[in-house]
Amino acid sequence: MSLVPAPLLVFDFDGVLVDGMDEYWWSSRRAALKLLEDPPERPLPEAVPLAFRQLRPLIHKGWEMVLVAAELGRASPGPVPTTTASYAALLARALERWGWQPATLQRALEEVRAQAIASDRAGWLARHRFYPDVVERLHRLRHEGASWRVLTTKGAAFSRELLEAAGLEPAGLDGHEQGPKTEVLKRLLAEPEPGGGPLWFIEDRRATLAEVRATPELAPVRCWLAAWGYLGPGDGEGLATQGIDWLDATHFRGPLETWSSPAPTPGAIANGR
Ligand SMILES: [Mg+2]
Repeated sequence: MSLVPAPLLVFDFDGVLVDGMDEYWWSSRRAALKLLEDPPERPLPEAVPLAFRQLRPLIHKGWEMVLVAAELGRASPGPVPTTTASYAALLARALERWGWQPATLQRALEEVRAQAIASDRAGWLARHRFYPDVVERLHRLRHEGASWRVLTTKGAAFSRELLEAAGLEPAGLDGHEQGPKTEVLKRLLAEPEPGGGPLWFIEDRRATLAEVRATPELAPVRCWLAAWGYLGPGDGEGLATQGIDWLDATHFRGPLETWSSPAPTPGAIANGR
């Protein structure tokens, strides 16, 4: 037994627990094709396009994937944004071009997912995979006295479907319905666990961790960037100055007290697992 209270671990879902790249494209492509009045100028391939993979580290919410899919069907979609600012500009331009609202896009995406689960649940599940050893590692947290929950911008029902299929039971699950991640984290901090341990947040989107760090009330939250997730070039650099810790897959598999691992040297990230 450790004398230090075990942390409450709050895991992002996509890119931390689960790699669902095939499903993100599959469902976004279908939702875009349903919303488009005319067939796309360029056919949307069934295989995940490189531009979609490259954009994934910047994508924040599900509806954005549908918008990106529609954009990739244009005759000249333009260069792939590489910064948060240029990506935000692309989203704004695209929403205006298509005359869509985020809520419409989110609904279309969730309808595709709900129909897929209703008609071929096994097929839908098979488009996702838990990262290696994640399921076993989450089960083992119990022996370390730590509880864990999920905080995602995905619809809670879809995350629950995947967790249940893997036999995983988080202490809680917050999806996009519960509001921005910073707000959910504030609520979790305000209602500490009986054990009174610290709150650790494990996420693969650098911009989200930067937002947490920019929120004074969330100063007690320890932020970890998951090395195996959807990282963009340079996402692992300069973490220490921002108060973000680096978590690679090897340390993640090890005991919680050994998680502190050195940040990568510049250019060392191979978007790897
Ligand atoms: Mg993620």
